[in-house]
Amino acid sequence: MTYLPCLEKTDPEVRNLIIAEEKREWDKMRLIPSENYASKAVFEATGSVLTNIYSEGYPGKRYYEGQQIIDQVESLAIERAKKLFGMPHANVQPYSGSPANMAVYHAVLSHGDTIMGLALPHGGHLTHGWKVNFSGLTYHSSPYELDQETELLNYDKILKQAREVKPKMIIAGYTAYPRIIDFVKFREICDDVGALFHADTSHITGLIVGGVHPSPYPMADTGITTSHKTLRGPRGAMILCKEQYAEKVDKAIMPGLQGGPHNATTAAIAVALHEAAQPEFKTYAQQIVKNAKALAESLNGHGFRLVSGGTDNHLILFETQKSKGIGGREAAKALDKAGIVVNCNTVPFDPNPPFKPSGVRIGTPSVTSRGMKEPEMKKLGDWMNRAIIAASDDAALAKIAGEVKECCKDFPCPGIDPSRW
Ligand SMILES: *Cc1c(COP(=O)(O)O)cnc(C)c1O
Repeated sequence: MTYLPCLEKTDPEVRNLIIAEEKREWDKMRLIPSENYASKAVFEATGSVLTNIYSEGYPGKRYYEGQQIIDQVESLAIERAKKLFGMPHANVQPYSGSPANMAVYHAVLSHGDTIMGLALPHGGHLTHGWKVNFSGLTYHSSPYELDQETELLNYDKILKQAREVKPKMIIAGYTAYPRIIDFVKFREICDDVGALFHADTSHITGLIVGGVHPSPYPMADTGITTSHKTLRGPRGAMILCKEQYAEKVDKAIMPGLQGGPHNATTAAIAVALHEAAQPEFKTYAQQIVKNAKALAESLNGHGFRLVSGGTDNHLILFETQKSKGIGGREAAKALDKAGIVVNCNTVPFDPNPPFKPSGVRIGTPSVTSRGMKEPEMKKLGDWMNRAIIAASDDAALAKIAGEVKECCKDFPCPGIDPSRW
């Protein structure tokens, strides 16, 4: 039978694009640390009839009739989230990570309150108070930075800054920090200055659930996580919080910021939470970290300077400018031609502007989902080195892309079945 038969009939143009993307995801080594492969079970829930209904409100307290089933779906997702993270309250309705952060701030802050998050060029997120984002425009942002010497979080300096600026909230959780975050220290700093502790574990939630990164829950007052990164669910997010903020958080989402929840996504979040609670998920999380360490070692051996010297989690940030005399953007473009997908990224205290950063950010969640292990990471490091050295030689890059594709054949992507193309 043809694959995607309905699309073939009604919209072959979109069908072709979806299949082309499946092929791209199959043939390349995807190293964007925020990306992953969702399971077929997650896709089945995402593509279900739950998309058809409107359910503003919360289970048992809706505005429209017809909520008999969706109330059960959302309650299931909420209960699974509370259990997996050990938090008393969960809201599974945020449309994505950024709106989830927005809702938390809306719930517990007033406009103009001071917030402290890691500066964007040091690995923070836009929504943690960066100046062009709503978070930096609506709230008074006093970003903290990494230590210039060690490129690590310097908790003494963060405490000192917090005592000076007296923030209402301190945010911990990043997009480009390759090391363990000491959430206990953040709790202590927040208690010292009377600030709320907001954890944003979007990148590392899968590692936390898998037991390879300490959890900020239930210490944090509030927390958010996306569901589509290391957690391997649909594109969406969750808010977790202490009981005393539950009502404010729920009201901030609806009616504060959103209308009807994306119910099919809610079901898929429930599925992802169930998958993440299985024992195999621990093995998966452990392998993500083992792979990142193996890849870091390989890159180190090829003379790349790794930010902070290495990694404890799923991601690596390395310098291309200083190591090989090529900008991060040029390196990323060459790697893509070689079948290895990465993003260019600023490094802490980057001398170059953000659109011409000196580094590249990579991560192992996707390749680990395909079953790749340390030997493939060693090969990946070799290929990356070759590609970056041969950045302007399209023939050499195409040759590497061929080798990468050949290797990928042995590692099926969850959710994709090439026999259907
Ligand atoms: C990805 C991410 C977000 C934003 O999530 P979106 O779904 O892209 O809006 C927020 N915070 C952190 C730390 C992230 O990594």
